[in-house]
Amino acid sequence: MSIDLGPYLGAVPHTVVERLRSARRVLAVGHENPDADTLGATLGVVRIVETLGGGADPVCTDPIPPLYDFLAGVERVRTDPDPTAPYDLLVVSDCGSLDRIGDVRGRHAELFERLPRVVIDHHASNAAAGETDWIEPHAAATCEMVALLATRMGVPLDVDDGAMAAALMAGIVMDTATFAHPNATPRTLAVSAALVEAGAPLSEISRRLYRSKPAAQLRLFGRVLDRLDSVDGGRVIHSTLLDADLAATGTLPPQSEGIIDLLAQADEAEVAILFKEAGETTRISVRTKPGGVDATVLTGKFGGGGHARAAGATVELPVDKARPAVLAEADRLAAEVVR
Ligand code: 5GP
Ligand code: MN
Repeated sequence: MSIDLGPYLGAVPHTVVERLRSARRVLAVGHENPDADTLGATLGVVRIVETLGGGADPVCTDPIPPLYDFLAGVERVRTDPDPTAPYDLLVVSDCGSLDRIGDVRGRHAELFERLPRVVIDHHASNAAAGETDWIEPHAAATCEMVALLATRMGVPLDVDDGAMAAALMAGIVMDTATFAHPNATPRTLAVSAALVEAGAPLSEISRRLYRSKPAAQLRLFGRVLDRLDSVDGGRVIHSTLLDADLAATGTLPPQSEGIIDLLAQADEAEVAILFKEAGETTRISVRTKPGGVDATVLTGKFGGGGHARAAGATVELPVDKARPAVLAEADRLAAEVVR
């Protein structure tokens, strides 16, 4: 391997390395409504532990959307821990807060409370500050951190014929929109170069995640884009995804992934918001322009979080009530932006 990640390995906390090294059976969990970063990081942690001779189970509270079927090992992800496994460590990846683990945490409250914990995450809104909480807001993806962790622990990135490298690459591609977001740093590119060298099919991963979808999903995008609306002379643009849109196009909720990034392309908009009907509550996805509104400030008002440019929340109101409440706040924040 010719790419040297040595200069970056000092970022990996010694406490995290030690805890992982001494674990025999790891419960590796990601966030609800999983994406490629949480899945890649969780599978990466599993492979690190297994390569070092321990056992590990990947867990995600929600079923995995078919979009991610191409990730090797994703079929191992369970919705609940193995009731017979003698877990001795919990590793939480890509969760801005422990709530993001979702319902599985409540279903196994005693286990999640009892296990010693390692947190690996890159959300600026993450307030975790324990000895083995490793939070790097400047990491483009949790997968970038896990690739460094593997290298620091002596696990070659090309284990399993490059399957780990591919999973980690998928998380980086997802969270940087294939290196298009400003979160992609020289370190992100160095880690990615090492992953490609280890066998990750970068172009194919990018195509799968961003440039291929069932026609039904394109129809769903069309309906939501057609409903585009704005306030504040276009500084806040928004649209709404209703359950009826899913029914009419024969699509599933995870297939709305990507719509918000189209809305965010609006030149005039400081803030782009997608409202998604979710029974008596409403999911919001928010994107903002560099140097403008901090998206976590807006979502934070509604109990959510994320990153400065991309954040989300679950608003405890049905969509017709959530919309005016969120738009009023967005309007206020957008009005403060001076260009
Ligand atoms: P998306 O809009 O793609 O669902 O989410 C954008 C970003 O915000 C992601 O990094 C995600 O982790 C974070 N995020 C989305 N929803 C929530 C939420 O309800 N709570 C928190 N803390 N973060 C969220
Ligand atoms: Mn992430």
